[in-house]
Amino acid sequence: MTSGEICCPAAVFGMLYSSCDCGPAREDRTIRRQRSGIPFVPPTCPQVRKRLNMNEKIEKLGAFISSQAEAHPGRTAQMLAAAYDIVGMQAAHFPSGSYTRSREYLQSYTARLLAKLLRDPARSAVVNIFMPSEIFCALDMPIMAPEALAAYVVNTASERVFIDRAEEGGAPDTFCSFHKVLTGMAETGVMKRPAMVASTSLACDANQLTFRHLASLWNVPHAMIDVPQSADEDAVAYVAGQLRGMARTAEECAGARLNPDRLKACVARSAEQIRNFRTYLRRRSQVHFPESLTPEMLNIACNHLYLGTEAGLAYSRLLLEDVSRAPRRTSEKRIVWMHVLPNWQETIKDLFQGRDNHRVEIVASDLAVSALIDMDPDHPYESMARRLVSDSFNGPGSRRIGAALELAKSMEADGILIFCQWGCKQTQGIALAAKRTFEEAGIPALVLDGDGCDRANGGAEQIVTRANAFIEQLEEQS
Ligand code: SF4
Repeated sequence: MTSGEICCPAAVFGMLYSSCDCGPAREDRTIRRQRSGIPFVPPTCPQVRKRLNMNEKIEKLGAFISSQAEAHPGRTAQMLAAAYDIVGMQAAHFPSGSYTRSREYLQSYTARLLAKLLRDPARSAVVNIFMPSEIFCALDMPIMAPEALAAYVVNTASERVFIDRAEEGGAPDTFCSFHKVLTGMAETGVMKRPAMVASTSLACDANQLTFRHLASLWNVPHAMIDVPQSADEDAVAYVAGQLRGMARTAEECAGARLNPDRLKACVARSAEQIRNFRTYLRRRSQVHFPESLTPEMLNIACNHLYLGTEAGLAYSRLLLEDVSRAPRRTSEKRIVWMHVLPNWQETIKDLFQGRDNHRVEIVASDLAVSALIDMDPDHPYESMARRLVSDSFNGPGSRRIGAALELAKSMEADGILIFCQWGCKQTQGIALAAKRTFEEAGIPALVLDGDGCDRANGGAEQIVTRANAFIEQLEEQS
């Protein structure tokens, strides 16, 4: 949904932050929570048993972290930071072997960055995932988005206490879980005050509410970029002007001047990253590269949050090397994924992962490739603005559906999986129209309801059963 499609802000605010918690809603939530927990996997194989043990340890860690959050937010932040530092160190020095070098590299970078921000966010900015990153990069201001933070929190089994806190504060059960985790972390004091908050009207109503609320809670400046639905030059100039204004706010918050040459260098890195990713996609369309949900989440981070950073560029180069070593594809079914991925769900991860998995693989996700446009370092603000207005998530739903269809064709996909994130009205709103469009074009599609960061809404068994049935359908068609 874009700014033009958002209904009356007062109505949305009233709907989303009402204190209503009447019987049926509470009952539904209780039932879902009772169903939540570790997905059931029959413990027959040693590897599965090993993973279950690991899950039990994570569950215990999550329970302990959760028990501390309200009373000792500082200690909780330190524990989460220590956990993410270990993840980062493990990915860098003791990789599991499940992922390629590029994935381990960005996994390590992201985990350590989150650890750093949990310990000391004073110079950082909390942003939504579509916010151009280059201005912050040029000012040495690390950025953090709800999707990245919540994806890590759920993998330490500690999301529930933050979601509960956000709901107790008035966020409804039906609100996007990524935003509830971030809000709950801020309200408990686990996520401390950053230097500023910055968001775009692209692509969702949750952005309109959460970031305004957080800026007020933390008492920090909030830069809000209004993105028109059209992708013409007037829209580019309008957004570029707002980005210049945001740069001035960021300068004040960082206590530093923005060096134009540094900004150009960041945009030049973005340009190379995007070119690298387009080359990766062309090669990816022809090879067997059986990675799973986390790698696609890393691609999303790379092409949004890390554009212009040295880490993002290094990742894109490593990714090109990794894909150039991949064997040619054979008979495996190829899936394009729409939107975020529930990378905490072991059963669905297992479906797509494993070097010897020649059954099915995820070849791309629409969120990772939503704005791979040419960037011009000599016109940094206009380039960033053009990326925003031409993002396939901007404008009418038909634009996103068309872009996903083109992606599926270019990747020679066999099917499209439309993931309806809990509380994401943007994806839920287009899901059926998207499925119909894809099927009319001859590409089977499946709509899957789930949650990228709340195990209570996960429905792990149902998701894996439906995904399995969909893959069988693709296999029968071949
Ligand atoms: S999942 Fe949907 S509602 Fe949540 S942040 Fe992303 S676009 Fe917004």
